[in-house]
Amino acid sequence: MPVEKLEFKTEVKQILDLVIHSLYSHKEIFLRELISNASDAIDKARYESLTKTDILENEKEFRIKIIPDKLSGTLTISDNGIGMTREEIVEELGTIAHSGTKEFLKILQNNKDAGRGLELIGQFGVGFYSSFMVADRVTVLTRKAGTQEAGIKWESAADGSYTIEEYDKSGKGTDVVLHLKEEEKRYLDEWELKGTVKKYSDFIEHPIVMDVEREKESEIDKGKKFKVREEETLNSMRAIWLKDKSEITEDEYNEFYRHISHDFAEPAKVIHYKAEGTSEFTALLYIPKTAPFNLHYKEYKIGPALYVRRVQIMDHCEEVIPPYLRFVRGVVDSSDLPLNVSREILQNNRQVEIIKKNVTRKVLDAIDEMKKNEYEKYVEFHKEFGRVLKEGIHLDFSKREDIADLLLFSSTKTAAGTYTTLKDYVEGMKADQEHIYYITGTSLEETLRFPYLEAFSDKGYEVLVMLDEIDDFLMGSLEYKGKRLKSVVKGDVKLDKADEEARKESGKRFERLIELIKDMLKDDVKDVRLSGRLKDSACCLVSEEGDIDPRMEKLLKAMGQEVPHSKRVLELNPLHPLFEAMNSLFEKDRENPVLKDYIGILYNQALILEGSKPKDPAAFAAAMTKIMTENVKRSGD
Ligand code: ADP
Repeated sequence: MPVEKLEFKTEVKQILDLVIHSLYSHKEIFLRELISNASDAIDKARYESLTKTDILENEKEFRIKIIPDKLSGTLTISDNGIGMTREEIVEELGTIAHSGTKEFLKILQNNKDAGRGLELIGQFGVGFYSSFMVADRVTVLTRKAGTQEAGIKWESAADGSYTIEEYDKSGKGTDVVLHLKEEEKRYLDEWELKGTVKKYSDFIEHPIVMDVEREKESEIDKGKKFKVREEETLNSMRAIWLKDKSEITEDEYNEFYRHISHDFAEPAKVIHYKAEGTSEFTALLYIPKTAPFNLHYKEYKIGPALYVRRVQIMDHCEEVIPPYLRFVRGVVDSSDLPLNVSREILQNNRQVEIIKKNVTRKVLDAIDEMKKNEYEKYVEFHKEFGRVLKEGIHLDFSKREDIADLLLFSSTKTAAGTYTTLKDYVEGMKADQEHIYYITGTSLEETLRFPYLEAFSDKGYEVLVMLDEIDDFLMGSLEYKGKRLKSVVKGDVKLDKADEEARKESGKRFERLIELIKDMLKDDVKDVRLSGRLKDSACCLVSEEGDIDPRMEKLLKAMGQEVPHSKRVLELNPLHPLFEAMNSLFEKDRENPVLKDYIGILYNQALILEGSKPKDPAAFAAAMTKIMTENVKRSGD
């Protein structure tokens, strides 16, 4: 195979550019990233070696070797893990397949000076590219384990392209050779390397070795010392989750979290425990502080790593955690599962079911504890993950009330930046209040001004304001402490007996006017009726109890689903002086064209209020202009 020159994908070029020109602090983390990759590659090889005999080839053990070479100025990180084929190396090191790369780059570009770039870049999983923080050229020599394929040499100076050629590599696995920049030569120093490994990678469960120079006393010529080079293991290799809690420092917990999550920030919460009884396992789980940028993308891998008696089986096991806790990272190490456990076995396994139940309980308890004891932190957690957690209301019937208890809401009664809970809401309910009321919207300020809330505020009833898209879908089916959650924009509202009487009276008086409005809008709305929810505004559009919410309708349509348009009900405020005036016009001359204009404007106003566009914007504008002109003329008279 001749040397081939290939271009990096645009995103990679941009990432490399940022790595080289913007990230100056903590350069030593490149070593952690490369060791982490090497360790992952060994995990994969070890897992395959359970079923294939030729994976280990002639070697005794899996290991990562660090080779500083002062003469050539290179630092090599060598592993005897799974290695890469030509296709894999082009795919893995030449492109970034993550969806959302463009959005990510934007955030990164905006944040690069704030130091947050570094945090983000790790989260994004571009660990390998951190090599270019310290090297001006990187060579990767790799050969895939368990195949007869030749080795590959990949090389790049981060100048937009890389080369690839066949390479006769004796052992399987990968060597990453960093041609260090002149000013980064300290990474050839034994002590520097030892310290960095100890600091960031001590818990890596495969030996990280390096040849070190030692002075030895000659056995023949006592007292005479000579220098030898010997291989030394630099890390303690102790699986951190199997250690006793009292032996683990906060730093160690945090460092391990960074290793498994690629998050550079500290976790919000560490959950470490050993379960005994029907199922024996150890779990070390983390709740992150901030949501990884790709949490809502399909490619986001759910679940902690699954180990069986210290052997990694898979890096993300979604069978041991419910999807609404998918932000949790960590490790579950089981003593009961068979080593050759497959995805199929995992899906129908009683032990796995028990683990999942137990993990769910523990995580929900930890979240609850955070809410009780570290409220400020909890508010931040809720901002990041409340939306995901909420899905549990729909997905996990047995836990729905526990999850509902964890949710925070803004409401018509909460001060800016503060929240209420369903528990507090219920405690504060008025004596005659039957339901828990809520409204959904996109912005708090805007939603609080909606006319739908008027009668509720008048009665002193609190209304919860929900701003997540899935609220429309979730909340209508929720019951909390025997009380239904009811949307204030749906169905007829009857809050007050006296109001009801007055409404009936007005109904009789305006009966014929309402008939005319109904007739005029018959193609647009399902019904026209007098409202029990308006106090100051003239009109609004509402859905009937069982109908789909307008927001949900829009959302489903945006997702490409076919949704039949459900017509709304136009509600009019009988107490508004406008209707008295319209009624007298109507009684004088029911054909008066002004009435028609008014009715058109009313309907369009109601559309705008619910966030839709006027039906015929040009006609609407023309009708408004006409009325304004007449008014001006009259005022001038
Ligand atoms: P990440 O490790 O977050 O996936 P990297 O950019 O560090 O991101 O690596 C990209 C991919 O390249 C890895 O997912 C892996 O498939 C491959 N890779 C990197 N280093 C090695 C290695 N030492 N051995 C085998 N594959 C590797």
